[in-house]
Amino acid sequence: DFSKRIEVQQSDEVGNLAASFNTLASSLEAVDQKRREFLQNVSHELRTPLSYMKGYTEAILDGVAGDTAAVEKYVTIIHNETDRMQRLVHDLLDLAQLEDDSYPMRNEPLPFAQLITDVVDRFELTASQKGIQLIQNLDDEIIVNGDSDRLEQVVSNLLANAFRYTPPGKPIQITLMKERMTAVLRIQDSGPGIPKEELPKVIERFYRVDHARTRKEGGTGLGLAIVYQIVKKHHGEFLIDSDIGCGTTVMVKLPLFVG
Ligand code: ADP
Repeated sequence: DFSKRIEVQQSDEVGNLAASFNTLASSLEAVDQKRREFLQNVSHELRTPLSYMKGYTEAILDGVAGDTAAVEKYVTIIHNETDRMQRLVHDLLDLAQLEDDSYPMRNEPLPFAQLITDVVDRFELTASQKGIQLIQNLDDEIIVNGDSDRLEQVVSNLLANAFRYTPPGKPIQITLMKERMTAVLRIQDSGPGIPKEELPKVIERFYRVDHARTRKEGGTGLGLAIVYQIVKKHHGEFLIDSDIGCGTTVMVKLPLFVG
């Protein structure tokens, strides 16, 4: 129980000690509160797909689904919910590893433009299906230090969001340039944008601006939390600039490789 407080009546050393104790108790309390919130979120996120799976399985077993078409529809729902749970568990494990300071990360010189192009290529089908125009401007001389799998994950999560929120027929702009001693990757989309006051919250685990909508789109609510952790582990900086109706620009700044 961190809620205990010591009454501070003196302004001498003992008084100061009591005041520091109270500050420490408050921060432990905040950590504990965060931990409880996280557990509640995880339970909630797992319970939703589980209840769909249980409900539709029971419907099939009880013979509620009259014909094969109905059974197929129910099984498809069960399959999609299993998929969602799998992604969620995968992202949770990933985040737990990233938050563990002793977890190793490779540190190799990487041609950053090539890495970005490799990831962008994976979105080619989505781009053509949605009629999204990709505008790319990448400085291919930029080398950064890091773990290629992890940095691919960063680019992939950010592009997935840009594609998810950009309406059909609108552009996404990707630029990579050198600014002072850093490599700066910018992904600018033509989506609905994020309200300015919500910007600090979107990197929090499970935070979503529009819960119902992102659930439909298949997001786990952990994508940006993972991006933030990976960039931090690379001694970089992750920034978001957005507002309602203005699209979203995400920025990843990484120190340049020094040979
Ligand atoms: P999700 O898997 O739900 O996309 P993220 O951690 O990647 O989770 O993003 C958190 C929330 O931030 C999203 O649910 C969405 O509301 C908002 N968001 C992230 N990227 C964008 C974007 N490019 N445009 C608009 N909203 C975004």
